[in-house]
Amino acid sequence: MKAKVKAVTPSAPHRQSITRHLRYSLGTPETKAPLPSLYEATALAVRDHLIDKMMETEARYEKKKAKRVYYLSLEFLMGRSLGNNLYNLGLFEAFSESLADMGADIDEIRAQEHDAALGNGGLGRLAACFLDSMATLGLAGYGYGINYEFGLFKQEIDNGYQKEKPDNWLGNGTPWQLKHPEKQCIVPVYGRIVHAEDREGNYNPMWMDWKTLIGIPHDMPIAGYGGKTVNTLRLYAAKSSDDFDMDIFNTGDYLKAVEQKMTSETVSKVLYPSDAMESGRELRLVQEYFFVACAIRDIVDRHLSSYKTFNTFPDRVAIQLNDTHPALAVAELMRLLVDEHALTWKRAWAITCATFAYTNHTLLPEALEKWPVALMEHVLPRHMQIIFEINHRFLDEVKAKWPGDNARLAAMSIIEESHPRQVRMAHLAIVGSHSVNGVAALHSELVKTELLPDFYALYPKRFNNKTNGVTPRRWLFKANPGLTALITRHIGDGWVTDMDRLTGLEPLSREPAFQDAFGTIKRANKEVLAKTIWDTCRLKVSPDSLFAIHAKRIHEYKRQLLCLLHIIHQYLEIVEDGKIPNFPRTYIFAGKAAPGYEAAKRIIKLINSVAATVNNDPRVNDAIKVAFIPDYRVSLAERIIPAADLSVQISTAGKEASGTGNMKFAMNGALTIGTLDGANIEIMEEVGEENIFIFGLTAGEVQAIRAGHAYRPWAIAESEPVIKRILDALGTGRFSPDAPGRFIPVCESLLSQYDPYLHLADLSAYIKAQEQVEACYDTPRLWMEKTILNVARMGKFSSDRTILEYAKDIWNATPKG
Ligand SMILES: *Cc1c(COP(=O)(O)O)cnc(C)c1O
Repeated sequence: MKAKVKAVTPSAPHRQSITRHLRYSLGTPETKAPLPSLYEATALAVRDHLIDKMMETEARYEKKKAKRVYYLSLEFLMGRSLGNNLYNLGLFEAFSESLADMGADIDEIRAQEHDAALGNGGLGRLAACFLDSMATLGLAGYGYGINYEFGLFKQEIDNGYQKEKPDNWLGNGTPWQLKHPEKQCIVPVYGRIVHAEDREGNYNPMWMDWKTLIGIPHDMPIAGYGGKTVNTLRLYAAKSSDDFDMDIFNTGDYLKAVEQKMTSETVSKVLYPSDAMESGRELRLVQEYFFVACAIRDIVDRHLSSYKTFNTFPDRVAIQLNDTHPALAVAELMRLLVDEHALTWKRAWAITCATFAYTNHTLLPEALEKWPVALMEHVLPRHMQIIFEINHRFLDEVKAKWPGDNARLAAMSIIEESHPRQVRMAHLAIVGSHSVNGVAALHSELVKTELLPDFYALYPKRFNNKTNGVTPRRWLFKANPGLTALITRHIGDGWVTDMDRLTGLEPLSREPAFQDAFGTIKRANKEVLAKTIWDTCRLKVSPDSLFAIHAKRIHEYKRQLLCLLHIIHQYLEIVEDGKIPNFPRTYIFAGKAAPGYEAAKRIIKLINSVAATVNNDPRVNDAIKVAFIPDYRVSLAERIIPAADLSVQISTAGKEASGTGNMKFAMNGALTIGTLDGANIEIMEEVGEENIFIFGLTAGEVQAIRAGHAYRPWAIAESEPVIKRILDALGTGRFSPDAPGRFIPVCESLLSQYDPYLHLADLSAYIKAQEQVEACYDTPRLWMEKTILNVARMGKFSSDRTILEYAKDIWNATPKG
C-alpha cells in the first residue's frame, strides 16, 4: 500500500521526503511523530542529498585523478551535523519552511541531536574544521579515525565536583553514518615472529599465530559550503570475527569464546579522555594500531585499484599524521610494502617518507608519546622489528653526520635506552615523514629550538609552520546568525568562503548606527546564554553585565587559577575595601578535566566554591557573578562564544601550542585578554596591539626564569599585599567553610618554586590588564570600535587559509583538482 503523502508545495519542498522517511525508514505515521523521530527523518532526508553529492564527488575525483589527502586522527570532535549540513548544502531555509509546514520548529528539531564528541578538545576540533575546509575548497580530503561507541564523557556537577557519565551517543545509531560491512578490513595483532629464510637464503621473518581484528567502516559525509563537494570521514568500529578462536568453541568452552569476542570489540568502545597527557595503556596502543592498519590498507587498495603500481604512490597520496597517535602508520606502510608487496626496503622507505607528514601539537613533556618496547613486541612483534630496522638505518645517518657523538646518538634514537626501554613515537614520526609542522609561529620556532633541536640540525628543510584556523561556517555563519546577517547586509556573503573580505567592515567600525546594530546582536546572544546559565546552574546573570569567559579543557597550564585569583581579588575589594565596580561583570567558566587529573578536578571544585561564595554574598549585590556551565562541548561552545565580551586566553607563555578557542571568540567580536602565547601573538599582529589586552611574561622570559631557578613565588606574595590577601583568603577556608583546609594544596602549589606555570609571576600584570579592560568597557563607543575591528581583521584564522598552506607546501595537492 502506498503512503498518502501531500503533494509537494513550493513553500514546503522537503515535506514529502521527511514524511517518507518517517514512514518507510522509521515506521512512524506523520501525525504521531515525536520530536526524536522528526529529527531522525529530517536527518535522513538531508542525508539523501549528501549521498548523491558524495557519489558525484568521488566520480569527479576518479575522473580527474585528484591527489588524495588522508588526515589520520584518533580524534574528530564533530559536534552536531544537521544545521551544519543544511547550511553547507544551502537547504536551511527550504527545510525550515518544510518543517514549519508540518507544524515543527527547526531549532527544536536541531536540539534533538546528540553531539558527536569523538575527541577531547582543540586537536580533535582542528581535525573537524580541516574536514570542512577541505570539502569547501574541493580538495580530495578523507578523514580516518575510530567510531568510538562512547565519546568524551558527559560532565555533571555534583556539590561542586565533576562527575563523569558515559556518553552513549550511538545508543540508537546515528543517521549521519553509512555502515559498510562489505568493506570490512581484517587486521592482524599479537602473535610471534618465526625467523625464516626465503629460497635465496635471505632473512624472511614470518608473523605467525596472530589474532584478527575486524574493522567495519562507518562513513560520515562531509559537505563543503555550497554543496558541490561532499567528502568522507571514515570511522572504523572493531568487530570480532565470527570464527574468532573456533578452537575454544570446539573444545567446549563456549563462554570463554564469547568473552574473547567481547575483548576484541572493546577496541573501539571508548575514547581515552585525556587531553595533552598519555595513558600508556595497552588498549590505547591497540586502538592506535587498529585504525592506522585499517586506514593504510584502505588507502593502498584505493591507490592500486586506480594505478596498479607503487611508482606513483607519493604523487597521488599524501597522509597527514595528526600528532603522534597515528605514527605507527609509518611502520605499517613499510610492512605492507616490504612483506606483502615485496618491495625492497630502500624503495619502500623512499615511498613512505615522501608520503607522510607529521603535525606536532604540544611541547608538554607529559604529552609526548612513548611505548615500552616489551609491550610493543607483545602487541605488534613485526612492527617492532621494522621500527628497530628503521632506527638502525637512521642512527647510521646520525653517525655519518656527527661521528663519535654518542650523546647525540642516544638523544635522537627512536629507542630510549631507559628502564624499561621505550619507543619514542615523535622520533618515529619525524624520521618517517618529509614534513614536520607546528601549529602557530611561536610553537613551530620552539619545536625547532627547544623540543627537537638535533632533528632540526639534521633535517632543517623538514620543519615548517602551519598556524591553525577554524572554519567560519560553523564558528560564525552557523553559531552567530544575527552577526552573519548584519555582516552580509553590509559587505555581501563572499566572506563565508573568503574570510579576508571581512576587512570590508573596517570603515564601519566607528559608525554609530553599525555599532548599535552590532551591540544589539551581542546583547541578544548574551540573553540566550543567560538563559542557558539559568537552565543549567539556576543562576540569574544580567545580559547587561560584561561577560568574561574562560572556556576550554581544565588544565593547569591554561591557568583557570589565574583567572580565579583575579576574581577573588575583585571580591575582596568589594567586601573588604568597599570598592564598587563601575559596572557588573559575569565570569563564566566551562570545561572538562581528565578523570584522573586530580589538580584539574580540584580547580573545578574551587571555581564552584568561589561562585557559591561570591554569588550569595549580599555585599556583592550582583556586582560580580561567577558561573560554571557544565558539559563543555561543541554545541555549547556555539552558544557560549557569540555571547562573549571578553575572551580569556591566559596560558603560561610557551605552553599553549596554538589555541583555536582564542580565534573563535575574536571572530565573534570578543576582545581578548591574553598572554603572548600560541596564536594569541598572531591575533595581536592581525587585530593591532591597541585592540587586544596583552600582559605577562614572554616565552623567553619564562625560559630564563626556569633556567636560572629564579622563581620565588613566596617573595612575590610577601612583597605584594594584594597577592598575599588573595592567597590568605584561599588558604584559610573562606571559600570552603565546610572544610577550611580543602584548598591549602592549591595555595601550596601556587607558592612552590616548582610551579611550572608561574601563576604568581603574572598575577599583578593580569590584574592591571583587567583594569585596562574595565576602563575601555566604560567607554562603549571605543569598545565597540575595537570589537568590530577584531571581527574585520580575523580573516587569517580561517581554516581555509591553513588548509591552502598544507595543500601547497606539504601535500602538493590542488583545490578543485
Ligand atoms: C575550540 C574548542 C576547544 C579548543 O579550545 P582552546 O581554547 O583552544 O583550548 C575545546 N573544546 C571545544 C568544544 C572547542 O570547540
